[in-house]
Amino acid sequence: MSGQLTIVGLGPGPAGWLTPAAEAAVADADIVLGYTQYVGRLKPRDGQIFEPSDNREELVRAARALALAAEGRRVAVVSGGDPGVFAMAAAVFEVVEADPKSADGIDIRVEPGVTAMLAAAAHIGAPLGHDFCAISLSDNLKSWATIEKRLRLAAEADFVVALYNPASKARPDQIGNALALLAECRAPETVVVFARAVGRPDESIDITTLAAAPDVACDMRTLVLIGSRTTRRIEMADGRAWVYTPRFERED
Ligand code: SAH
Repeated sequence: MSGQLTIVGLGPGPAGWLTPAAEAAVADADIVLGYTQYVGRLKPRDGQIFEPSDNREELVRAARALALAAEGRRVAVVSGGDPGVFAMAAAVFEVVEADPKSADGIDIRVEPGVTAMLAAAAHIGAPLGHDFCAISLSDNLKSWATIEKRLRLAAEADFVVALYNPASKARPDQIGNALALLAECRAPETVVVFARAVGRPDESIDITTLAAAPDVACDMRTLVLIGSRTTRRIEMADGRAWVYTPRFERED
């Protein structure tokens, strides 16, 4: 009996940012697995089983999802944002790579979602209008030395940098360290954006500079964007500010 496993991105939060395809994939599943907070955004339909679990149990969850699908069930694993961006889709493929038989006969699909970086960008203008990169500051799965190297080279190459997982209770200082490192290569007036809980009722966005950024509060629901040399802030007559990065770049 062949089962189905869809790894689904729920977007950053609001219903309007849940794609119709992602919604359909969840509705189609017999059983839905995911981090408690993400599963909690959904309502089970009749006969549907929800299996929430802790955030740190990605590989266990991935293996369980494959095992359930191997029994012939239709399984959805849900992630916030996009499931391929620092999320569950890669965990599932890690298990599949280590044990290819675990995926035998299973129809695996990945259903994309709006990632936090794009949601944050949309609410402040167009900061990703030119070349950019995304770096997770979490050192659970890589060393801090690797993170430092990537930050340094991204700053040197003048990418706009989106920082995921900028801080947690266990790592309150790393965002400060990251900003200090970036400040070695970027001007103090570089535009920095702290986008908190984007799309949620308690969304808050601070547009500041690299020099002032260390004073801005930051938590695990924050996406930090550091502008490139050309990223700018434009002030509107109504007091609103936009941030954008022009599509062109002049060499100097
Ligand atoms: N798969 C997710 C990212 C998971 S990593 C995605 O594609 O968005 C978790 C990090 O994503 C958080 O620490 C934060 O940096 C960012 N994030 C997720 N949702 C967010 C939101 N609504 N507002 C701001 N940042 C968010």
